[in-house]
Amino acid sequence: MAITKTDFMRGMQCPKMLWLDKHKPSLRVVPPETQARLDAGNDFGDRAMGMFGPYEEMTVYRPGTRIPDKKAMIAKTQDALERKVPVICEAAFCNYNNYCAADILRKTETGYELYEVKNASEVYVQFVRDAAFQNYIISRCGLKIEKIFIVTHGPDEENPFIPVDVTREAKGYYTWINDNIWELNRMQKEREEIRTEPGEQCTRPYECWYYGYCHGTVKEDEQIRMGL
Ligand code: SF4
Repeated sequence: MAITKTDFMRGMQCPKMLWLDKHKPSLRVVPPETQARLDAGNDFGDRAMGMFGPYEEMTVYRPGTRIPDKKAMIAKTQDALERKVPVICEAAFCNYNNYCAADILRKTETGYELYEVKNASEVYVQFVRDAAFQNYIISRCGLKIEKIFIVTHGPDEENPFIPVDVTREAKGYYTWINDNIWELNRMQKEREEIRTEPGEQCTRPYECWYYGYCHGTVKEDEQIRMGL
């Protein structure tokens, strides 16, 4: 696959981050609190799949692993679309090898609603950009996305899922994504390591997992020795 949603967001934070992901991922150091947050988000996402009642999940793993089989997921999604399944979770799409998997696609009479689930109590701009990337890929695959929502965490377990309509804002990012996705595709394939000076992007919007490598606090050979 070329560029995924995660690739795009990481590449837009810092091109070097995306290049390192593709060429030297062993240098990553994921803080335990970040990993715990990611795990909690996965759990919330799993529970949100049922927020509209019965659904079909498109997740397929490669045999004997927990690595998603993207090609199989795309094929399964096409089948679900043809069968007009009302609620499709982890719906996978590919356009010119760029890929996304939508948390929830809900069928309407004339198209689909797209739901991006976030384990947070409010909507941040990064969330809208995540949904915008999915809208970009899915729209280019020929589906009509009528509404786009971020599903936030409600105040209590009585009301756990609060959809927030971000259709206008997310659709407004279409040109921005198109203007950058092809350059990120080209850049990630370069043989030479991208030269980017450390700066504000190392901690915003997310702390970079290569911080130690780029700031010289941990050298490359040390990280390899440490098995990171
Ligand atoms: S630490 Fe900073 S410069 Fe290095 S990859 Fe991350 S964001 Fe880019």
